[in-house]
Amino acid sequence: MTDPRYGLPETIALIDDLHLGCSQVVGTYVMLGDDPVIVDPGPASVLPNLEAGLKQIGLSFSDLHGIALSHIHLDHAGATGSLVRYFPHLKVYVHHRGAPHMIAPDKLLRSATRIYGGQMDYLWGEFLPVPVDNIVTLGGGETLRIGGRALRVFDAPGHAAHHLIYFDESTGAAFVGDTTGLRMPGHTYVRPATPPPDIDLEAWRRTLDMLLSLNPRMLLLTHFGPAHDPERHIADMWDHVLRWAETVRVSLERGEEESAAEARLVALADADLGDVDEAMRRQYAQAGAVEMSWHGLARYWRKRMDAS
Ligand SMILES: [Zn+2]
Repeated sequence: MTDPRYGLPETIALIDDLHLGCSQVVGTYVMLGDDPVIVDPGPASVLPNLEAGLKQIGLSFSDLHGIALSHIHLDHAGATGSLVRYFPHLKVYVHHRGAPHMIAPDKLLRSATRIYGGQMDYLWGEFLPVPVDNIVTLGGGETLRIGGRALRVFDAPGHAAHHLIYFDESTGAAFVGDTTGLRMPGHTYVRPATPPPDIDLEAWRRTLDMLLSLNPRMLLLTHFGPAHDPERHIADMWDHVLRWAETVRVSLERGEEESAAEARLVALADADLGDVDEAMRRQYAQAGAVEMSWHGLARYWRKRMDAS
């Protein structure tokens, strides 16, 4: 059984958002203390679960000071506009490259609809715009005095061009979003998440080096929970990223059918996951579909080929 505190410092809580009723797929961190802040509320479809999770730690949405977004992908940021509609005092901290899409999400939703089609509502629920007055844009280099602490902000491109990492110096915890992949509690395997449209391996490696230079005590993953072995964790994820990237590159070079190329990557990821039960396989797949990651890497290579 997993420790409900996941080995977190006293000043940080983790709420299991129970995405589609599944535990340990999408999580929301709470920076406790005066003016509490949540990191990545998740999609609107999990709002009742987030509310129940906050209640368990004696909080309600009206107690929050704000929402700090690691990045604007639907599984992380989808609920933001709905929360602000009902709790207009909430501040929304977001990368300046992501902010325009929170204010006017049409383009973001159009591209998501191309991927998820009729599943959009079931998977994510509504995605409401955030009024510009609620938004605090960041780009890295800032120190925020929020959630009862000093929080250093870092630009963290790689998984997404609009990704931020928040580093809490008082605990050594780094809120990494999807920068260090997916890893379920009690497992050592780290699965990369490389969705379209802006995977950038060079930028990503620089982000990971920056992260390592902070000497974090733990990495707080959205999918799911803390990694207490940052160096090994990051090395493991990067190994997989490079192998995935090479696999996709070779498929493109050979002009393989997309469905066959995707299946090749899925098989590789599946083998790396090792001897786990079917429920755990589904948990990883729900947190980050490998087929989507294939498209993210293919896009990365095609951009490079077009540029050369
Ligand atoms: Zn994610």
